[in-house]
Amino acid sequence: MKAAVASKFGAILKIEDVVKPKIEPHQVLVKIHACGVCHTDLHACHGDWPVKPTLPLIPGHEGVGEIVEVGSAVSHLALGDRVGIPWLYSACGHCEYCLTGNENLCLSQQNAGYSVDGGYAEYCAAHAEYVVKMPDGLGYVEAAPLFCAGVTTYKALKVSGAKPGDWVALFGVGGLGHLAVQYAVAMGFRVVAVDTGDAKRELAMSLGAECFFDFKTDDVVEDILAKTNGVHATVCTAVSKAGFRQSYDVVRRGGKCVLVGLPPEDMPLPIFNTVLNGVSVVGSIVGTRKDLEECLEFAARGKVKAIIKEKSLEDINDIFADMEKGEITGRIVMSI
Ligand code: NAD
Ligand code: ZN
Ligand code: ZN
Repeated sequence: MKAAVASKFGAILKIEDVVKPKIEPHQVLVKIHACGVCHTDLHACHGDWPVKPTLPLIPGHEGVGEIVEVGSAVSHLALGDRVGIPWLYSACGHCEYCLTGNENLCLSQQNAGYSVDGGYAEYCAAHAEYVVKMPDGLGYVEAAPLFCAGVTTYKALKVSGAKPGDWVALFGVGGLGHLAVQYAVAMGFRVVAVDTGDAKRELAMSLGAECFFDFKTDDVVEDILAKTNGVHATVCTAVSKAGFRQSYDVVRRGGKCVLVGLPPEDMPLPIFNTVLNGVSVVGSIVGTRKDLEECLEFAARGKVKAIIKEKSLEDINDIFADMEKGEITGRIVMSI
């Protein structure tokens, strides 16, 4: 089968003919129809993070397609079912986290396109308990970004504890951020968006943000404080240390700063202000299968729609180059 393979950190991916995966009794084989390109895939291929993937690797954790083979121990899925294979490729199912609805924190989890091969391929073997079915009426290409960008931002907004009518500042209007704007609006929050350039400004405003500030030309912190008197919550998907600091500086007393983006840097926090202002700083990592079902439901009801440019697997190195330059509007989805 055809796949995009990373064989060396920092090098380009190669389109190769690799062996089609064989499934275990608890698995299904998915014929991939589309796979979104997440910035995490770029971090994976660059070896950016402390825990690095083993190479060679087939990246991709927004792969969606149809089941073409069902393992002998699987009874709840059938040939032809339309499913997605998210970042949470599998979890143990019996640890403290799995038992308390926090399977995304399971220490024994595997991750698609990181610890196991993912969706940048014609076929992908998946754990039957952890694929999530697509609602009827959602096409493969439009659904793909929801399996990471969608669920991650939907979950982060839930973690933010914001209530309808609250101000939420969203740092980054990229693949994740443009969906964050839509989920936030659908959840009744007032949105301030931060990114750079006219394309991101127009995108954020067209999706329902009340205002947009440009991190290259505006005094983001001063402007947000002036507009909102401090936001109730922030969600930072920016791949930028400076963006994280600003997202902390604009939270009002008692507010919550949700960290989602993963630049490979530290974020120093002022103890005095954090204590005196009663600010919470919390990480949020993807979401559970239940979060994913809920997030897909928003899209199925037409409340959220990923802005997509469709490309093919052969374009992956150009897509990564554009992503590094911050030149992508919305999400790129490769049809496979
Ligand atoms: P992307 O490249 O599509 O978007 C990032 C956006 O951030 C771009 O639009 C860029 O212009 C903007 N940006 C850069 N500096 C900024 C700043 N100072 N202020 C505001 N915006 C700024 O990337 P993506 O696919 O949306 O992923 C974003 C990050 O989230 C990556 O680090 C990725 O690994 C991470 N991620 C985390 C999770 C999670 O579960 N926590 C899930 C998926 C992705
Ligand atoms: Zn992702
Ligand atoms: Zn577990």
